[in-house]
Amino acid sequence: MPQNIDGKAISAQIKEELKEKVADLKISRGISICLAVIQVGSDPASSVYVGNKKKACAYIGIDSRSYELPEETTQEELLQLIDKLNNEEEVNGILVQLPLPAQIDEDVVIRAIDPRKDVDGFHPQSVGALCIGQPGFVSCTPAGIIQLLKRSGIEIAGRECVIIGRSNIVGKPMALLILRENATVTIAHSRTENLREVTRRADILIVATGKPKMITREYVKEGAVVIDVGIHRNEAGKLCGDVDYEDVAPVCSAITPVPGGVGPMTIAMLMNNCVEAGIAGR
Ligand code: NAD
Repeated sequence: MPQNIDGKAISAQIKEELKEKVADLKISRGISICLAVIQVGSDPASSVYVGNKKKACAYIGIDSRSYELPEETTQEELLQLIDKLNNEEEVNGILVQLPLPAQIDEDVVIRAIDPRKDVDGFHPQSVGALCIGQPGFVSCTPAGIIQLLKRSGIEIAGRECVIIGRSNIVGKPMALLILRENATVTIAHSRTENLREVTRRADILIVATGKPKMITREYVKEGAVVIDVGIHRNEAGKLCGDVDYEDVAPVCSAITPVPGGVGPMTIAMLMNNCVEAGIAGR
């Protein structure tokens, strides 16, 4: 059986560490941390994500402020709120839950957030800093995957890593982060030719295609480590990833399950970014 990369346990461990750190910051330096969460409209999936983020804040000891704006909010109104929060000293992090309604340009909104409060790591300044190896916030899902690998004792340096997917929030920052850990990196995507040949080179295969169970054992080298970023729910309500777990698990050395792999890490890393923002803001 392959090693189970247990995102649930690792995320719980990180949250415990952060809880202690936040308590210590309060007692020894009088620092309290505050995250502002903005949701526009009432998309049910977004409401679940926002609720989970607020719950994690409460558990760790981070204050969270909630801004629930109506679906018809204009871009100008949202930008005004972001500007107000940018200028409030006690707010350390600003998170705008995506996707936004069609009348609002996400890129404009992301650029409006002060990079010092950009706890999602989506601002072009944060992405640029990551690219040239300077300090800045890193997108939470890829940052969580690095923690999963490190805390599971998986060697990264010098190994061949293939990432399938080139989105701005997963694939691209993932490639930059794993390069920073000294892996040899390939990004594959929907236009890649001979995908199986490319993915079979991987010692570490990270899959973020958004296609349920697309990756079967033919794509995987014997003994590879497989990280599955995908989350899908079938008609029966059962969750699965972009990897066909039952098919792939027998041929790899370690694998993340869905649920309980990458998913829980995203919120843990968001909390970590909030704590970093709080420390840097003093
Ligand atoms: P996206 O749709 O923006 O990007 C998908 C990428 O996969 C694209 O770059 C595309 O080129 C590539 N791709 C699609 N089909 C392909 C194919 N047949 N062959 C090769 N490449 C192909 O998606 P995303 O936002 O990067 O998310 C990817 C998956 O990860 C989704 O299932 C999403 O739900 C999940 N996700 C999970 C978390 C989490 O916290 N666990 C966070 C973000 C995204």
